[in-house]
Amino acid sequence: MSLYNQRCAFCGLRIISADGQDIVDGGHIKPFSEFRDDRLVNGLALCKNHHWAFDHVWFGVDDDYRILMPEERFIEDPAVQSREIKAFGGEKIRLPKDQKFMPSIDSLEWHRKKWRIA
Ligand SMILES: [Zn+2]
Repeated sequence: MSLYNQRCAFCGLRIISADGQDIVDGGHIKPFSEFRDDRLVNGLALCKNHHWAFDHVWFGVDDDYRILMPEERFIEDPAVQSREIKAFGGEKIRLPKDQKFMPSIDSLEWHRKKWRIA
C-alpha cells in the first residue's frame, strides 16, 4: 500500500489511524487463490468498498489505466454517497510513482477478459 501512499487507486481515499493503520487493502488483480501471484505488479491499493467492487468486477482498468465501467452491473443510490461509483468511469486510477511497480497490463487484461469488460 505504501507504493500508493496508502491511497485507494480508485477513489483516492486515504485514512491513517493514530497508530499507523491505513484503510486501503492490497488487492490482487489476478486472484491469489488461483494464480499464486503475489508480485506487486499484480496488485492495486484499494479501499474496502472498491476492493470488493473490483473483485466482483463492478469495474475494470484498461491498458491506459483508465477505469472501465461496464453497463448494468449494479444500481446505486447517489443520495447516500458523496459520489457515485459510476461517476469514476473513464478516469485514470492513481498509480505508484515508481514505474517498475505499475500494475501489470497482462493482469488487468486478464481481469477484463475474464469478466468480459470491454
Ligand atoms: Zn476507494
